[in-house]
Amino acid sequence: MTLFDSPAFEGHEGVHAFFDERTGLRSIIAVHSTARGPAAGGCRMWPYATAEEALTDALRLSRAMSYKNAMADLELGGGKAVIIGDSRTQKTPALFEAFGRAVEAVGGRYWTAEDVGVSPEDLTHARKHARYVAGLEGHPAASGDPSPVTAEAVFRGVRLCVRRALNRDLDGVRVAIQGVGHVGGYLAEKLHAAGARLVIADVNQEAVRRIADLTRAEVVAPSAIFDVPADVFAPCALGGAVSLETLARLQVRVIAGAANNQLADAAAGRAVFDRGILYAPDYVINGGGIINVAGEIRALERDEAFDPAWVEAKLERLDQTLAEVLDRAQYERRPTNEVANEIARARISGAAEKKAAA
Ligand code: NAD
Repeated sequence: MTLFDSPAFEGHEGVHAFFDERTGLRSIIAVHSTARGPAAGGCRMWPYATAEEALTDALRLSRAMSYKNAMADLELGGGKAVIIGDSRTQKTPALFEAFGRAVEAVGGRYWTAEDVGVSPEDLTHARKHARYVAGLEGHPAASGDPSPVTAEAVFRGVRLCVRRALNRDLDGVRVAIQGVGHVGGYLAEKLHAAGARLVIADVNQEAVRRIADLTRAEVVAPSAIFDVPADVFAPCALGGAVSLETLARLQVRVIAGAANNQLADAAAGRAVFDRGILYAPDYVINGGGIINVAGEIRALERDEAFDPAWVEAKLERLDQTLAEVLDRAQYERRPTNEVANEIARARISGAAEKKAAA
């Protein structure tokens, strides 16, 4: 299959491959869309078995960033970078400096940030040679850890879904949280403060114990979280938590959580709808993190300090967008994930038309 025939390539404005002989850098930067603004998305370092695998991942992730950034109503398009390599054994400052030169070569059409396998320290090295790097530390524009902001957006999204599906507030609502790491932990604390009753599971015993102590949550084994009768299931661990198999076990009215790619496949999305479960599309409800990063990009572009008030306004707007998705899905009797994709595509093509006409 050639690049242009790959289903993942669809709609991409550009794909850039970089090789640096001195450091061994092999990196792909995929720019899906700059219609709404420069493409933004993190850099992932992963030991891909083949370059083709790395390319497919970069393309898939960059298109997803276009959709996420559009739903967060950011003046940003979608892009993603991947570095082929093992982040535990193959990282060097020189490798990330070479990556910085690659980002700079894309000429501001792509802003990079952290993703799996890449730390703020790595980005500091990249920043030596590139202006378009967010996720910095010790800088007036720095946005810091995005997890609390992601958790705040997810918390508001859960509250909205509960109001819609159960016509009540969070007080006394039972929420089953899968994964109480960075985002799931903060989410648990917020839900507990709002009076929700929690059931939590995590493969990390220390994390689960700490959050149970803080929130008086009931703890179940990781494999048992799908069998807990609850009002809400909040997936906050890895992708693929909602499949035909787990759906047969879930006894909830709402699925709303932080994890990316919650639906194992399209059939799972359809089945959620057929079961009458209200699903908050993952890339909408978890947009708080990218909003935080966008706050840093905005500050760097303007040479200003990070502005939390701007982030708060965007979080309010995100909640309105989620409400728009839920309203339309209810009115048109369609799955929320399909409606969200449609709104995202319309926002991107609307911006592209405006740009073309200007
Ligand atoms: P994290 O690694 O801090 O937390 C994930 C937790 O899930 C860990 O404690 C881990 O032990 C646990 N876990 C893994 N497998 C599990 C299983 N089978 N059952 C139960 N628990 C399991 O990650 P995070 O930053 O909290 O992110 C959580 C999810 O949200 C990820 O899917 C991430 O991509 C997504 N997300 C995060 C952000 C952010 O700002 N951090 C933003 C958007 C989306």
